[in-house]
Order: sequence, then structure tokens, then C-alpha cells
Amino acid sequence: VSVDLAIAVDLGGTQIRVALIDRTGAILRKISDFTRATAGPDIVIGQIAALVADVSGGVARSELAGAGVSSPGPLDTEAGVALTLPTLVGFENYPLRAMLSNAIGLEVKLENDGIAAAIGEWRFGAGQGFANVVYVTVSTGIGGGVIINNNVLRGRRGMAGHVGHMSFVQGGEMCSCGNCGCFEAYAAGPALARRWVKSGGSGDAAAVFDAARGGNGVAIRLVREEAEFLGQGFASLMHLYSPDVLVMGGGVGQQFDVLHADIMGSIRICAMPAFRDTPVVRAGLGDDSGLMGIAALVFARDRAQH
Ligand SMILES: [Zn+2]
Repeated sequence: VSVDLAIAVDLGGTQIRVALIDRTGAILRKISDFTRATAGPDIVIGQIAALVADVSGGVARSELAGAGVSSPGPLDTEAGVALTLPTLVGFENYPLRAMLSNAIGLEVKLENDGIAAAIGEWRFGAGQGFANVVYVTVSTGIGGGVIINNNVLRGRRGMAGHVGHMSFVQGGEMCSCGNCGCFEAYAAGPALARRWVKSGGSGDAAAVFDAARGGNGVAIRLVREEAEFLGQGFASLMHLYSPDVLVMGGGVGQQFDVLHADIMGSIRICAMPAFRDTPVVRAGLGDDSGLMGIAALVFARDRAQH
């Protein structure tokens, strides 16, 4: 019986999370630190290396299958390069895979955070056992990943699956990506909060859900509208990929119980009849889908990514 372990790193604009994970997907240790997001790559790589040393303390090198990192994109995962990371200063065209590999002395796999989370849900979570899975994370942005015919869809330079930047409304709201009218600009948490503030409310997306649960009529209407935006986007993804299941994660995804009925209602309006019975389910792994997806990648030796 193999005792191989993987080190999984989830690099985010707010937090760096590092876990030691075994082949069954079990997280044996997990630690985190706040990302020094404005300090530049050298400092951030140093933070990751310290966390890796900490989480793998006492583990023999022969037990480690390798390491992997999930990062916001766009990344060129074929070249191992971060192209632009809006939430991390100084990472433009940065050779993240090589620099991290040098710092920790292990082979490193690099994956977009949305794709990593999709792999995690497919291998260990709500998408387990399905050949076709679309994963969508809805939080401060919208990201995702696509599994088709039991293969991870990566596309040119590994950049496929930026589902939040589907064009949604011509000439619409400004998006974090610099374009107008993206799905993310309408359906991510900040968009819901913006509509709430415009209607006289205060606080973030979580405050809108709290108010809706408390019976606030305006909040209830905005939550329904949020579900309609999500359903419209999900219907497009169903038309594109015909998944067996669409898995929803992220901070807004945690409000799945209050959104689900209206998401399905919106899909019944927006999707062609043959697609309307595609299930939409909540993510099974919470915050850990990315870490577990990275571990699955490290263990998948048949993949061509180096
Ligand atoms: Zn966009």
C-alpha cells in the first residue's frame, strides 16, 4: 500500500492555505497565513516555503509525491507562468512554478484555482462518479472549471474555464477583468451588494442574504434576481458543455438553499428543454475543493504537465 502524500498550496489574494493530503483525499494537516499581497513575489514565495516546511515537518521526503499550487489567473499552466494576478502585486509574467519549485525543492504542479476546485469536486466531492462536471465558484468573483468525458478541459495555455467572464449584457456593468457586461459583473457577491446598496441597504452580499432570511422584502427580491442571473449563466454553461451535474461553490454558493429553487426556475426559462433536467448541486468540499484538487493532480502521474 502506497503511503504517498501530496503538499497542496492554495494561493489567494487574502490567504495562503497549505495542506498535507493523502491519496484518498484526506487532509492530514492544514495551515494558513495572510498573504502579504503587496509585498512582491519574493516575500510571498518565502511565505509559501515556510508554510510548506511547517506542514511537512517530520515527513520523509520519500513519502512525498510532490507539491502543487492553485492560484488565481490568468495563468499559463503549460509554461508555469502567472500572467496577471490582479490581487497580488508583482506577479506579472512571473515564473511561479519554477520559483516555487526552487524554494521548496520539490516538483510543483500549477493550476488555475477554478480548475483545481473543479478537479477536487470531481474526484472527491459533489461531482464524484460523473464523467462531465461543470464547477462554478461564486464569491467576490466567479470562476470555475470544466471536466468533459473524464478529462480536464484546459485549452490553449491552460486558460480554459474562466466562466465568470462570459459576456452577459452588451455594454453592461464594468467587470474586474476590464471588460463590460461579464457574468461576474452581474452575479458575483459584490454585484448583489451593489444592487442592495442602490436600494437603500448596507453591507455586503452576506448582509443581503441575512436580510432576506429575516423577511426583508427588498432583500428577498434581490436574492431572487441574483438566482435568476445565476440560472441564466448556468444555462449557458449547460448549453456549452452538457454536464451531468453543475456544482456551485464559493461564498455565495454557501447560500445555496435559498437560491436553488429560483436558479432552477431561471434555468427552465433560459435553457433549451433537453437541458432543463441537469442538476445543480452545492459543492461538497467547501473551502477545501481547491486543495484536494491540487492533491489529485499531484497524484495523477499520467498527466503531461511538468
Ligand atoms: Zn470579466
